[in-house]
Amino acid sequence: MSKKQFKAESKRLLEMMINSIYTQREIFLRELISNASDAIDKLYYKALTDEQLVFNKEDYYVKVVADKESRTLTITDTGIGMSKEELENNLGVIAKSGSFAFKKENELKDGHNIIGQFGVGFYSAFMVADVVTVTTKAFGSDEAFKWESTGADGYTIEPAEKATAGTEIVLNIKENTEDDQYDEYLEEYRLRSIIKKYSDFIRYPIKMDVKGQ
Ligand code: ADP
Ligand code: MG
Repeated sequence: MSKKQFKAESKRLLEMMINSIYTQREIFLRELISNASDAIDKLYYKALTDEQLVFNKEDYYVKVVADKESRTLTITDTGIGMSKEELENNLGVIAKSGSFAFKKENELKDGHNIIGQFGVGFYSAFMVADVVTVTTKAFGSDEAFKWESTGADGYTIEPAEKATAGTEIVLNIKENTEDDQYDEYLEEYRLRSIIKKYSDFIRYPIKMDVKGQ
């Protein structure tokens, strides 16, 4: 399995963004939850034009699970998922917004709910995580893929197993250092307050679970 390199500009952009665009680390969760919500909305818009597809709102949700033992924070959605090509195009090219493209392709004007447009939100995960693993299965496909990256040095993509369509993002939360605290992103009260602060407007349920002491 070969490791693909980000283009030079992307690499610099990623470093710059991680260090400067976002002043508050906590917004990574807002970004990942809004991407999850966008992914569910995309299925919803598909259902409007596809008679085969029935959209039962109850089946669609975002789940946030913290595991203190493994130091992982997992964000799962039951949205549209990504094909291998979409993984390459949307997560391999920084500042390319798949949601912006989706809105243009589908001629969505005002009144839609899709939030993404700048194509940098996903990378905010690297403010708190040293490894990010995305396992995803596109709606209507029977193939799943795993994308993994430690940040600026590139990413790998390989075939994976996943039963249902949608995306699971696992963040390996960084260890605390003398100057920087990351443990808080595995704490229930902290996660709840971040979700409350930024995700009140999300139209799908956000379920939460915290494992370990
Ligand atoms: P934006 O949301 O502004 O488009 P992001 O950096 O947040 O940019 O995400 C980049 C792209 O990656 C999205 O536009 C989308 O196509 C894809 N993506 C990210 N997260 C998900 C997800 N949970 N499900 C499906 N696609 C996703
Ligand atoms: Mg986004």
